[in-house]
Order: sequence, then structure tokens, then C-alpha cells
Amino acid sequence: MLDFHKMNQQLEDKDKPLRWLFLDLNSYFASIEQELRPELRGKPVAVVPVMTDATCCIAASYEAKAFGVKTGTMVSEARKLCPEIRLIEARHKLYVEYHHAIVQAVESCLPVAVVMSIDEMACRFMGGEQAVEKATAIAKNIKRAIREKAGRTLCCSIGLAPNRFLAKVASDMQKPDGLVVIRPADLPQILYSLKLNDLPGIGGRMHQRLQLYGIRTMEQLCALPKPHLKKIWSGIVGERFWHWLRGDDIVEPATQRGTVGHSHVLPPDLRTEEGAYAVAQKLVQKAAMRLRKMSYYAGGLQLSLRFVRDRGWSAQTSMVECQDTLTMLEALQMLWQQHPAGKPLAVSTTLFDLVPSHLHNLSLFEDPKRTKLMQAMDAINAKFGTDKVYFGGIHEVKHAAPTRIAFTSIPDLF
Ligand SMILES: [Mg+2]
Repeated sequence: MLDFHKMNQQLEDKDKPLRWLFLDLNSYFASIEQELRPELRGKPVAVVPVMTDATCCIAASYEAKAFGVKTGTMVSEARKLCPEIRLIEARHKLYVEYHHAIVQAVESCLPVAVVMSIDEMACRFMGGEQAVEKATAIAKNIKRAIREKAGRTLCCSIGLAPNRFLAKVASDMQKPDGLVVIRPADLPQILYSLKLNDLPGIGGRMHQRLQLYGIRTMEQLCALPKPHLKKIWSGIVGERFWHWLRGDDIVEPATQRGTVGHSHVLPPDLRTEEGAYAVAQKLVQKAAMRLRKMSYYAGGLQLSLRFVRDRGWSAQTSMVECQDTLTMLEALQMLWQQHPAGKPLAVSTTLFDLVPSHLHNLSLFEDPKRTKLMQAMDAINAKFGTDKVYFGGIHEVKHAAPTRIAFTSIPDLF
């Protein structure tokens, strides 16, 4: 007799094979220090931005984590928890170099589709790779490639799943050196052992909101009908969550957002040619970071100026569809040369003609090195606060238009 249930299950599995691999380096910065300095291996180590008690740890080795030290722990507290902890000052450049070596190692096995941060990336499985056995073998090869090509002691946790969301969840389920597979047939039961805030996107406020609706367990969350999730999240994100929890690999829908822009009224000491230009550069960099965070590309840039006496002036230009700050700064420079004389009072820059990443066509004019540089810069800014890495021109006005960007979707932040 035909087993209809089994047949349906097989059909469903065919629709939702393992499409994504998510890779998360374990205790990334601390592991690199341990890789480079064998005397630190097996020891509790914390990486700090500067050598002072008044800062917090930005990474902790697994040995330090055993004492309760984690990302965000104040140094003074870390010393209390673990008196023998070794504090190491962060070496950003080195971590970026290792990042590139790791991406290369992964790419020797499978192309990297998205780099989420300095220690997280995702790859897509195609065709025959989507079968559990094949996908698992590739994941093991990636782990080996990282050890052989990037660093002998570097470990990562890998998650395999029908969509990127669940692949990330899977990568979090076993640390360090994990390899967890979420097959369509495992859903939703495999998620029941997790806490609600183990899911990416469920932070403190969302967690509270779920409690308010009486949702306390993953089982309850998974059982909720789509309209309820939509209501709790007040919108489309809830709907996406419903699909993600079921293994659907849905494409991020295009948002209504057509532009990203910032403006800034200049403080008196920056009401000069140089001051205004530097602020404009800073605003472009802010907008570019937001654009990348939203996973969009821009096809145009507008520059507007207001003057102390005269009215405003505005000009725009189209650009090669891009995401990188350098291309935008070049467009800005071109626009800047056209502005009329006058004492500037306010500056605004706007990116327009936005296109979501999945609709972006790779351009012959696009420089992949620039894209990688931007990703690395964003990763560092995401880890260390938003103003650590920037282009030279804005150095003197770094604090004039403070960047306030919430990187809530990137974990391990403080
Ligand atoms: Mg990590």
C-alpha cells in the first residue's frame, strides 16, 4: 500500500531541499589571536578595543566564555569573573586580512553568496549539492579548507537548511566547531528546544512583545497562523517569519523605500567650503552604509546645499548601480564642483533609484575589490561602533554628524 504521508513528505522535501549553508567563525577575534600566538591557546583570552578597564570585551575565547566572559562584558567585570584572563588589544587590520583568507578558503569549495559580517557568511547550494549527504560533505570540506588555507586552529560552526534564516539558526545550535543540518522533515520539531530569543530578529523588545501576546515557547510561535505573526510584528516581517520557520526560501520583497538620504545643519565652524564638503562626504558614507545594510544598490546621487544668505541649490547625477562608498564619493566630487559660491548653512545628500540586491545586475564597471572593502569596513564598524573606519576626507568632522545605525540583525553586538 502507498504511504501517502511519506509520499507527501518526500514531495515537500523535494520542494525545500538544503539550499543554504551559513558559516559563523567561533570566537573570531580571540581565535585569531590564539592562532597567531600559540602561548594563548587553551587559555582564557578576551580581545578589547583599547587597554583600559573602562571598556568592554569585543570577543572572548571559549576558555574565557567558560568563566562567563562574553562579548560586551566590561573589562573590570571580566577580571573579576576570571582573574587570569589575558587581555589583548584588537588588531583590526589583521582580522580583515584573515577575513579575506577565510572567504577565499570557503570559495575554494563553494561560492560565497553573502558576507554578513567579518565572521559570518552564507553560500547557496545548487542542484545536486542540495542533497543532505552532498551538502554535509561540502560543509566538512569547508571546515578543512579554512584550517588548511586560513589558519590551522580556526574553527567555525556551520548550519545547513532550506533557507538562510534557518541555516543561521542551525549554525548557532552547536558551538564551537558545529555542523547542524535542519532538513525540511525536521521542521518544526527541531526548533522546539530553542528559546524565542535564539532566533535572529527576536531581540529584547520583540521578545517582550511576544510575551505580551502570550507566546513563550518556540512550539507556540511555530503554531501561530500567518495573520497572527503579521499582527505581532505589525507587518511584512511577521509574514516572512512564518515562511522562514517553515523552510520557505522567500526572496526579500522590494520595499517602498525609494531613497536613502541624510541632511545636516552645519555648526558655525564648519560653514566653509572645506567643512561643508567634508560633512557631505560623511553623509554619503552614512547613506551608503545604510544602503548596504538594507541590501540595496543605488543608481543616483543628489546633493543639496542651503546657504546662509541665498536660497538652496541642488543637483543630481546618475551612477553605475552601486553599493560602495568610493563610487558615491566620486559622484559627489563631480556634483560638488558644480555648486554656486556662497557661505554654506546646511548639506544634504540622497541616494535614489534604489534596487534590491537580488535584482541588481552585476555590472562590468563594478569593482569587486571595492565591494569587499566596503563589506570589511561595515563589518568593523558594526563590531566596534559606527565610526571606527572611514575615508580620510571626513576625519576632521567625524563627530559633526554622528552615525546612528542600529545593527540589530548582526548578533554579538553591544
Ligand atoms: Mg562568530
